[in-house]
Amino acid sequence: MAIQRNTWQREAVREALAESAGFVSAQDLHARLRDETGIGLATVYRTLANFAKSGEADSLQSPDGENLFRACASTGHHHHLICRRCGKTVEIEAGAVESWAHDVAAENGFRDAEHVVDIFGVCAECAAKGE
Ligand SMILES: [Zn+2]
Ligand SMILES: [Zn+2]
Ligand SMILES: [Zn+2]
Repeated sequence: MAIQRNTWQREAVREALAESAGFVSAQDLHARLRDETGIGLATVYRTLANFAKSGEADSLQSPDGENLFRACASTGHHHHLICRRCGKTVEIEAGAVESWAHDVAAENGFRDAEHVVDIFGVCAECAAKGE
């Protein structure tokens, strides 16, 4: 029984994540799912963390230190441009960053270097709305 419950919760979180245009927090998803499903915040957190670990979702930290999640279109290594107003997300490749990261690691004798580069800003639509 416990396994079955777990499965519908996973599916509910997976669907809600897939419907999100950009990165969302566990609180956002929980607020959306709570009324319909009665799912708990801790379960949403745990499920999202599992998705991030298994590569089903991308995770990153907002400038405010909040953990954000997204079901990304690309599974390979990539970066994000994220609107800090509406959460709109653009997946980007960053060739210059890749070679720079590789070179700077090699110059300092580091092997197996990884990096996380995400850019937060205000998207054109939000900028047009003013403020
Ligand atoms: Zn992504
Ligand atoms: Zn925006
Ligand atoms: Zn990169």
